[in-house]
Amino acid sequence: MIQFDGVTKYFAGKAAVKNLSLTVGKGEFSVLLGTSGSGKSTTLKMINRLIEADEGEIRFAGEAIRQMEARTLRRRMGYAIQSIGLFPHWTVEKNIATVPVLLGWSKVRVSERVEELFSLLSLDRQLLKRYPHQLSGGQQQRVGVARALAADPEVLLMDEPFGALDPVTRGALQQEMLRIHRLSGRTIVLVTHDIDEALTLADNIVLMDEGEIVQQGKPAELLTQPKNEFVRNFFGRSEMGVRLLALGQAGNAARRGEWLEGEPIAAALTLREALSQFITRRTDKLPVVDDRQQPIGVLHFNDLLNLRELNLREGVQCAG
Ligand code: ADP
Ligand code: MG
Repeated sequence: MIQFDGVTKYFAGKAAVKNLSLTVGKGEFSVLLGTSGSGKSTTLKMINRLIEADEGEIRFAGEAIRQMEARTLRRRMGYAIQSIGLFPHWTVEKNIATVPVLLGWSKVRVSERVEELFSLLSLDRQLLKRYPHQLSGGQQQRVGVARALAADPEVLLMDEPFGALDPVTRGALQQEMLRIHRLSGRTIVLVTHDIDEALTLADNIVLMDEGEIVQQGKPAELLTQPKNEFVRNFFGRSEMGVRLLALGQAGNAARRGEWLEGEPIAAALTLREALSQFITRRTDKLPVVDDRQQPIGVLHFNDLLNLRELNLREGVQCAG
């Protein structure tokens, strides 16, 4: 869907992105991860030509983007950023409708789409006529995402979109994004410096440092097969284990056909969260229920030690 081939970008003679080659597959949720200054935003902005590459070629659906009109390109790509960039003197409704209106959609179609997005992003209809400053940070960010999605773009580009939010709101929006991705099958490229955010969201993590890709792959691959010391240190040696557990779910790891009394945990809980439950409840077995509170089975503390069996998100091969 998006292909970088030997792309370099200089600022004042210094390369911010160096000879970068990268493929983002259609329908994939890719996350550009790295510390501040590693070249993530520059990479993202070259996709919709907010920044022009100096060397190399970027293709979108097979077509070189430098051959395309920037405006046309941008209308095919939603763009959401941390500072949100909502127009302050426009109502929420008008903000969301920006691109559809530019594209000449009929009034009826625009208002139907706004309704659809409101329900997709769990926004209250009362907010439609409000102005951005009358919304909470979390609501503004949801409106920002709704606006980026409004014209049903082929690609959604997001730059630290949840960076300014408190952890609870942030977690909720991450779950929304996963749901939207599952429902819409949209190709998403998201930039973050937050390791856990990347592990939660990504099908494919692109780990960057000093304008170059250090390693690229599925979350569990980077954790279990780090390519070098940099990757190992980046993910934090001491945190590797719990981060791996965060890729698995209690429902998949529970032993079927077993049951026991006691306060159950939800199947959707990550194994990292389950680990925390084992510790705080001082137990080594936990009953697991599905979202209708029906018993699924029993999660055993000892099973957390067998990562290979745990059905992590990508069915990872664990070394050793
Ligand atoms: P990240 O998003 O990973 O924090 P950026 O892509 O924003 O990193 O920046 C990569 C490097 O390029 C940094 O060293 C930054 O200072 C530099 N840079 C980014 N944008 C500009 C600009 N408009 N002018 C000059 N230097 C820039
Ligand atoms: Mg950035």
